[in-house]
Amino acid sequence: MGRTSKDKRDVYYRLAKEGGWRARSAFKLLQLDEEFHLFQGVTRAVDLCAAPGSWSQVLSQKIGGQGSGHVVAVDLQAMAPLPGVLQIQGDITQLSTAKEIIQHFEGCPADLVVCDGAPDVTGLHDVDEYMQAQLLLAALNIATHVLKPGGCFVAKIFRGRDVTLIYSQLRVFFSSVLCAKPRSSRNSSIEAFAVCQGYDPPEGFLPDLTKPLLDHSYDPDFNQLDGPTRIIVPFVTCGDLSSYDSDRSYPLDLEDGSEYKYTPPTQPPISPPYQEACTLKKKGRLAKEIRPQDCPISTVDTSQP
Ligand code: SAM
Repeated sequence: MGRTSKDKRDVYYRLAKEGGWRARSAFKLLQLDEEFHLFQGVTRAVDLCAAPGSWSQVLSQKIGGQGSGHVVAVDLQAMAPLPGVLQIQGDITQLSTAKEIIQHFEGCPADLVVCDGAPDVTGLHDVDEYMQAQLLLAALNIATHVLKPGGCFVAKIFRGRDVTLIYSQLRVFFSSVLCAKPRSSRNSSIEAFAVCQGYDPPEGFLPDLTKPLLDHSYDPDFNQLDGPTRIIVPFVTCGDLSSYDSDRSYPLDLEDGSEYKYTPPTQPPISPPYQEACTLKKKGRLAKEIRPQDCPISTVDTSQP
């Protein structure tokens, strides 16, 4: 596969490189903002599951432009530095990471918490949805510690079987919960974003870091909500209708007449999980060991007993 083929298949990937964004995800946050004006009045924000950092780029440009903004970005992976963004490397489901984030907002709460976290997808839908729900709940738990009243929380969700349970949990804390699908998120993906506005925890609620996740006795059948407890949230598509369709392939020369020129990635991964394999490959040491039993029969010497 040539290096331009992804540019052809994925117009947002190409536009992200051309625009200096670290990932195509930047367009998802920008399109969510077009619809919900997420950055209005925001000076302090948390970006959970932030690597490689395109959402942090958007946040630092939109709220940190005057030098007064404050963005804290967190991810399992190391992230190349970004001006005006304080980075924490850690797992958001761990107490120690949550505590580290919270300490930056003590006395001065955040206006916005975003989470674009995704687990390493296994293809087993139930497992993937469960892991995604765990990430979202960990993010929500952190948000309950750092958000100011009236603040906003935006998190990636998988619209799977249990999504109404998640909406119901979110509605306990926010006066408005919507499900939004930006144009740059592929229709073929179950991904969407819960946009929760008006942070308003129940009276007497005390944030508690000790139980952020679904426990192991979680039973999706038991937890199905119906009747008046079932919450159906509005579904909103966002992003200008004339913007690019993420499920289409576009020719390399764009419709505006501009001529295609290959653009390298804005920020190549700084410590990718496949780094060791690349190093071994360069040294010619990645080849599999050849065992006699793997050889085709014709090449095995059968003349010896
Ligand atoms: N919003 C990012 C951007 O615009 O560049 C892209 C985020 S990427 C889709 C998902 C990220 O979630 C990955 O970088 C992954 O390392 C992170 N992630 C997954 N599980 C995590 C966890 N438990 N704690 C922290 N980060 C996590």
